[in-house]
Amino acid sequence: MVDFDAIRAQFPILDQQVHGHPLVYLDSAATSQKPQCVIDAESEFYRTINAGVHRGAHELAALSTEAFEGARAKVARLVGANAEEGNEEIVVTGGATAGLNLLATAFGNASLGRGGEAARRFALKPGDEIVVSKAEHHSVLLPFQELAYRTGATLKWFDLTEDGRIRSDTADEVITERTKVVAVAHVANVTGAITDIAPIIRRAHEVGAVFVLDACQSVPHLKIDFHALDVDFAAWSAHKMYGPTGVGFLYGKRELLEALPPANFGGSMVELAWMDQPAQYMAPPARFEAGTQPVAQVVAAGVAADWLMKIGMENVEAHERTIAAELLKLGDLDGFRILGPRENVDRIGTVAFDVAGVHPHDVGQYIDAQGIAIRVGHHCAQPVHRHFGLYASNRASTGVYNTVGDARALVEAAKGVRKFFGVA
Ligand code: PMP
Repeated sequence: MVDFDAIRAQFPILDQQVHGHPLVYLDSAATSQKPQCVIDAESEFYRTINAGVHRGAHELAALSTEAFEGARAKVARLVGANAEEGNEEIVVTGGATAGLNLLATAFGNASLGRGGEAARRFALKPGDEIVVSKAEHHSVLLPFQELAYRTGATLKWFDLTEDGRIRSDTADEVITERTKVVAVAHVANVTGAITDIAPIIRRAHEVGAVFVLDACQSVPHLKIDFHALDVDFAAWSAHKMYGPTGVGFLYGKRELLEALPPANFGGSMVELAWMDQPAQYMAPPARFEAGTQPVAQVVAAGVAADWLMKIGMENVEAHERTIAAELLKLGDLDGFRILGPRENVDRIGTVAFDVAGVHPHDVGQYIDAQGIAIRVGHHCAQPVHRHFGLYASNRASTGVYNTVGDARALVEAAKGVRKFFGVA
C-alpha cells in the first residue's frame, strides 16, 4: 500500500493557508506542484556540478553530462522508450508546445525536400491530409494547422461524442489514403477523457501516416508504454509530471528520429559546418537539441520520473480515480454540467464543469476565496468549448497529492456558488 498522506507531505507548497483556509490545489492539469526531492535536485545541481553538457573536457562537464544523460534514461524508462547510448528515443525540448512545434517544423522542412529521401515519409503537399481532433489543445491544433497552410495540405479532424470523447470509431473514414500525419491527445485537457487511440494508430499505420500523440495529460497520470502503444512520436511537459517548468520531452521511434530533418539550428547539433555547403547534422537526439540545454531542469525532471516510478503509475492511477469519483459529484448539483464523461471510466481526474448563469471567472474567484485553486477560462482549447456551446468553463484537476477530502471541499464550496450570485 502506498502511503499517499506521506507523499502529500513531500510537497512544501501545500502546507499553507490561502485566504484563511488550508490550500486545496486542484489545478494540476495546468501545472503540478513539486516534491521536495525535485526542488532539491535542481539546486543541488547548481551547488555541485553545474557545467555545460557534451562539450567540456573538465570534471564538472563530465559529471553534468552524466547527470543529464542519466535523466534522459530515467524519463525513457517512465514511458517505455529506449535509453541506451546510440539508440535514444527521447529528445529534450522546452515543453510539449516546443516539441509539437519541433515536429511540425521538421515535417515542413521535409516538405521542402530537406532531409533527402529518408525524410520523404514526413513530406506534405497539396491534396495530402493532416488529421487532428476537435478536443485538441491549441498546442496541437495550431502547429499542425500552420503546417497545413504552409504545405497546402488539408486539415481534417475527428468529431466528438456528445460527452466530448474523440470519435475513434470513425478512424476508417476520417483517416484516408491521403492522410500523412495524425495528431491527437491521449487525454484531453478539458474533458479528462482518455482517447481510445488503438484504432486511430492502427488506421494511421495502415495508410502509412505518422501518428503523433499529445501525452501531456497522460504521462503524469497513467502507466505509459509508447512501444506497446506503437506510437510514432509523443510530446509532453515536465512541469505537469512534478518536474520543473521550461522543459519537456519528445519521444520518437528511433528509426523515425533518424530520418527526421532538424527543426532548430545552432550549436551542439552538427558534426561539420562550412561556409559554402550545408552542415552535416549529428544523429538524434543531439540533432534536435540545438543550443545550451536546460540541464538542471532536465536532471530534476529525471528525479521526478524516478519518484513517480517508485510510487508506481498503477497506484497513481488508482489513487486519482478515487478523487475523480468525488469530483464527478459536481454534476449532481443543480445547474452544474460536467463537460466530459460523467462516468468514472476511461477518464482521469480532470473534471471541467459549467455553472448555469455564473461566469467561470466569478466561479473561480468564489472558490478561491475558500482556499481552493481551480482553473477557469477556455484552457487553450476553444473548439471543444464550442462543441459544448460555451466559450469557457471551470476545471478541477487532480495530482498525486490530492485527497478525497480536497474533492469534497470543492463540492461543498460549489454548492453555494449559484445562490451567492443570485441565480438559485
Ligand atoms: N497539450 C495538452 C493536452 C495540455 O494540457 C498542455 C498544457 N496545458 C499542452 C499541450 C501544452 O503544454 P505546455 O504549455 O507545457 O507546452
